[in-house]
Amino acid sequence: MLADDPAEMPPEGKIAGGNECRTCTFKSRCADIAVAGIPRDTVPVGANAMSALKDLVQQHEAADAEADTARRHREEVREQIRSLLRDLGTRKVQGDSFSVSWFPVKGRRSLDRKAAEAAGLDLTPFDREGDPSERLSITLT
Ligand code: SF4
Repeated sequence: MLADDPAEMPPEGKIAGGNECRTCTFKSRCADIAVAGIPRDTVPVGANAMSALKDLVQQHEAADAEADTARRHREEVREQIRSLLRDLGTRKVQGDSFSVSWFPVKGRRSLDRKAAEAAGLDLTPFDREGDPSERLSITLT
């Protein structure tokens, strides 16, 4: 409540996975603020800051490994559900506190830009530039 700069507030929607961001009124402004907050220069950092950063990078690495394990487990469980539905011969089950349905999804239609350009169509007047974004790259060496 006391913040006088939006950069002081954590992007809670983004931290929670980005679902809220899809319908957020401030999405463009939020992206601008994130990009504007990237320092322009590269400067040497002191030992304390280096140690704090190293600790955060290690936490990130550990969280990444946990997320990988959780993702793999989730996919295994989903495959077991498919297998059970296949064995039961049903695509839909309504339980007392859950429902499961399994259905085919048609492929998404998309524009073959290369084919359109090969046919002599210039699509550049219809190009649209999205909001700027930022990327944090973390690499272990
Ligand atoms: S886009 Fe909206 S919901 Fe997402 S982090 Fe920014 S302000 Fe929050």
